Amino acid sequence: MKGALKLLLVILMSIEAYSQADPQVDRRPPIIDMHMHTGLPHEVPAGTPSLCRPEPCQGDGHATVNSTDLMKKTLEAMNHHNIVLGFLSGVDWSAVQEWTKSAPGRFIASPFILKAESSHLERLKEEIESGRFTGMGEIGTQLNGVPPNDPSLEPYFKFAEELDLPVLIHTLGIGPYMPHFSSAAGSPLLLEEVLVKHPKLRLFVENAGYPYHDEMIAMMYQYPQLYVDVSTITWVIPREAFYDYLEAFVRAGLGKRIMYGSDQMVWPEKIGEAITAIKQAPFLTNEQKRDIFYHNAARFLRLEDNESIDPR
Ligand SMILES: [Zn+2]
Repeated sequence: MKGALKLLLVILMSIEAYSQADPQVDRRPPIIDMHMHTGLPHEVPAGTPSLCRPEPCQGDGHATVNSTDLMKKTLEAMNHHNIVLGFLSGVDWSAVQEWTKSAPGRFIASPFILKAESSHLERLKEEIESGRFTGMGEIGTQLNGVPPNDPSLEPYFKFAEELDLPVLIHTLGIGPYMPHFSSAAGSPLLLEEVLVKHPKLRLFVENAGYPYHDEMIAMMYQYPQLYVDVSTITWVIPREAFYDYLEAFVRAGLGKRIMYGSDQMVWPEKIGEAITAIKQAPFLTNEQKRDIFYHNAARFLRLEDNESIDPR
């Protein structure tokens, strides 16, 4: 409950800050970006092209590695596209705090979790109880080969459920080339144990578990509390592959539980590209696009009473 109140406060500040920041606010439909980062979990040189799959391929971005510059460019893109709120995480927790302080109300501050350890959890609890973090994740332990049902993560889920926090998890077949990354540890079926044990957990899954289509749909049909984002797959894989995947979820009747994210990492130019990918999807109605860009996240985050922030 405490978590929910804090989150509501963040949202209210967001509306306030945004309407002060840009008088055009009431003319453009708002967007919520459910997947933003203050950087990468591993270092890359400045100018590094953006990720792409399948390799060999050529990414078209240029990495902005200085955290302050990245924040500036990210906020510029947010203003340009009327992104009123971003779910922001980073491995460097102090960077998340810095961004949040620089742009009050624009971010749901959240820790990126690469390793689950009890000392780490204690620190995290303090940050959350003090209100400095209002979300949990991205939980990225899969990048180190640790699946969502690993016992080390159990206390994290328990805590998040108790505090009613929105939680983002990386459970999918692809990810950065890290030495212990495991595709097998990303099967959405591995979420089942967690969802059964924590029925009130407000969990959303990166990239709708790409490319584990059948497994993800099974989980979403069986566990109606589960949401997903479409983030990195809007720009990291071929556009046709993204459309095939997204369309399958919409045709399966799950269009109300898919949320937009950019997963911009160190490529802020991807924020706009991710938006364009959804805007140009030929099979989506305008209403379905608005659901993905805003309404589904608003419902997931429980902002739906705040009609005033969507002038549509
Ligand atoms: Zn991410």
